[in-house]
Amino acid sequence: MPKLTFPGGALIGCSAGFVNVPRIKGSHNAVLSGILAADKLAEAIAAGRANDEVTGIETEWRDGLIGKDLKKVRNVKPLWSKFGTVIGVGLGGLDMWTNELFGFSLFGTLKHGKTDAASLEPASKHKPINYPKPDGVLTFDRLSSVFLSNTNHEEDQPVHLKVKDMGLQKRSEHDVFAGPSTRYCPAGVYEWREQDGEETYVINAQNCVHCKTCDIKDPNQNINWVPPQGGEGPVYPNM
Ligand code: SF4
Repeated sequence: MPKLTFPGGALIGCSAGFVNVPRIKGSHNAVLSGILAADKLAEAIAAGRANDEVTGIETEWRDGLIGKDLKKVRNVKPLWSKFGTVIGVGLGGLDMWTNELFGFSLFGTLKHGKTDAASLEPASKHKPINYPKPDGVLTFDRLSSVFLSNTNHEEDQPVHLKVKDMGLQKRSEHDVFAGPSTRYCPAGVYEWREQDGEETYVINAQNCVHCKTCDIKDPNQNINWVPPQGGEGPVYPNM
């Protein structure tokens, strides 16, 4: 977990990493962390404090419902990443049971060992996977789903996905890693398109759903996600 508090603000919900991975659910912890932050902020305001660090959030979340919920599942994703789906998920299940029944883990607290960006390997080490085309009944293409989610940005706003070095993106992301951004981005923002005989990196920033995967997964850490227009996000009219 990152440090949650800083002068004048705090990370809560998904931005703090409060998703319970085996349950694929984080909304309960997002609500609880919002309540904790509001309680601590109200206490600080009542005490006449301003612009300082509300450290009570940092010290109390681990002992509360969020900490209890996440402590039991802390090793599931590291085990899954290390040992693969069949063995890793099985070990993760065993670990959750020992945590639940006996209050301890045989593994202690595991770490991932490397970043998501460092875990990517060159395409030459792997065979391409040919996924079946979406059938429009049970499976759907990404852009149709982005359209249904009704997210949008102002069309003429500055691009908030900054590629630091376009040459590196072509030499490495495209030539060595076979353009993973065209697959990991859930909104189909990135495309390698042939234009005038050259592969060109196209960024459809207005489709971005702000998951920040590109910021952490790009193998060269060459993509920097920034909040659009000083903090604006996609418009989610259905939320
Ligand atoms: S933040 Fe997520 S949705 Fe937006 S461009 Fe990056 S990967 Fe795609």
